Amino acid sequence: MKILLSQISVDKTLFDFTGNKDEFDIPELADNVSVHVSVYQSAESYTFAGNISTKLNLNCDRCLELFEKTINYNFEVIYTSEKEVDKDDHIMFLPPQEVEIDLKPYVYDTIMLNIPFKKVCSDTCKGMCASCGENLNHHACTCSKDKIDPRWDSLKELKKTLESAEE
Ligand SMILES: [Zn+2]
Ligand SMILES: [Zn+2]
Repeated sequence: MKILLSQISVDKTLFDFTGNKDEFDIPELADNVSVHVSVYQSAESYTFAGNISTKLNLNCDRCLELFEKTINYNFEVIYTSEKEVDKDDHIMFLPPQEVEIDLKPYVYDTIMLNIPFKKVCSDTCKGMCASCGENLNHHACTCSKDKIDPRWDSLKELKKTLESAEE
């Protein structure tokens, strides 16, 4: 995903890249990564505006099943060799003697940031039964809803023992 600075002009220049998913060290990546970007130069800066799209394979936090999530992310990033500019996620420093810009680190970071913290296959996912492990999206199970998790029984016993020991 390298762009030679000599290929960029003051007019918008369009670039298309396809990154093979195996080139990225991201286990969730389910598809190759497409990047469409338009670039233009102004003074010491290069402005990139474009779109990153790919697919992720994620495990649902509620039902544990694998589901696919599409990433379709519009971005703008400026590479600049002006030293006094405040750097942030969208402004990158470009060493003055540099002859090319490699977008791949930015694309990598963007994909990582788009992996959701909460992974849910659907807002209506019913999850898994805590007693029998049935995926409730497929079948309702016969476990009684008010049945107490057996793990609490031993805790209750412990509490009783502690209380009687205090007396
Ligand atoms: Zn789910
Ligand atoms: Zn159940």
